[in-house]
Amino acid sequence: MSLAAGSTIGIIGGGQLGRMLAIAAARLDYRIAVLEPQPDCPAAQLANRQIVAAYDDPAALSELAAASAVVTYEFENVPLSAAESLAAHVPVYPPARALEVAQDRVTEKNFLNGIGIATAQFHPIDNDDQLTAALKTFGGSGVLKTRRMGYDGKGQRVFRNMEAGGFAGTCEAMGGVPLILESLVAFEREISVIAARGVDGSVAAYDPAENVHREGILRTSTLPAAIGSGTADAAKAAASKILAALDYVGVIGVEFFVLADGSLLANELAPRVHNSGHWTEAACVVSQFEQHIRAVAGLPLGNPARHFDCVMENLIGDDMLKVPALLAEPDLMLHLYGKAESRPGRKMGHFTRISRRS
Ligand code: AMP
Repeated sequence: MSLAAGSTIGIIGGGQLGRMLAIAAARLDYRIAVLEPQPDCPAAQLANRQIVAAYDDPAALSELAAASAVVTYEFENVPLSAAESLAAHVPVYPPARALEVAQDRVTEKNFLNGIGIATAQFHPIDNDDQLTAALKTFGGSGVLKTRRMGYDGKGQRVFRNMEAGGFAGTCEAMGGVPLILESLVAFEREISVIAARGVDGSVAAYDPAENVHREGILRTSTLPAAIGSGTADAAKAAASKILAALDYVGVIGVEFFVLADGSLLANELAPRVHNSGHWTEAACVVSQFEQHIRAVAGLPLGNPARHFDCVMENLIGDDMLKVPALLAEPDLMLHLYGKAESRPGRKMGHFTRISRRS
């Protein structure tokens, strides 16, 4: 059954992704309630209601459940207990299982490998001796990451051709938290697929975007990616397989490394709308945001076809100074997030330049 017009969709998290979901929801005649501790957050500026409280505050979660016909979220570190307690009262999409898988890099890789999707090789790491032994199996190279709460390259350390030993204190310096050592992948490029699954099990996958990161933050997403059609199809097929295996409802972002032979290794899942899918609002009739709202509201999914080539670029910190010049460009869509204060590394907005399809 689809959600009636005028129903409220609850969103946990009030950042720019929540804001863009709120815009899409309004266009489909839904109302938005946001749970976010930060007052006047980007999503609250456009929401019908904000509950100002911690994401795991029991009274706030009860209030959100009572106010909402369905609850979704805009970031993957929503406390699992919060999603599970909400799910006892109101449908929560994507399902809590998707959060559980995406919140721990070891669980995520075991899940992916278990359904036949290749990833970098990896070892869970809890102490410096395990790190020494694991690095040896990878010939002295690898990427050490925190298992949980890592994003945008934070909490990562790269080792290249290290001699064995001399790692005393490394795990402590990473915060004394559970870690994962991944093999260092010599990828040719990075791509991501944004895909959606409806309540009825139907799937819509957008074309893969080619992503460039700098200092661990996404800078640009380019369509089409410079990959063969076989690689593009394999990426979409992997995303569909993940959606089905999680009995998923909503939009997911799946990041991949593309190797020299065109084969793929899945790197990361984001159980939400994703920065590398912002281009869809300029180049497709139905954006990832509308697609997510359609999915969680039980509406039919929209057509993910891409009508333009395009490049999406993030506006980070002082990039905001470019805004007047960008507004003078004819084929450019600008999207600003309503953040009063610009800081280095802070995502302030993005823009997408479109051109005729090649
Ligand atoms: P992540 O937080 O896992 O998305 O990693 C951030 C970025 O670090 C990725 O987009 C890659 O550019 C790089 N990276 C992550 N893991 C690896 C790996 N195992 N091998 C090589 N580069 C990696």
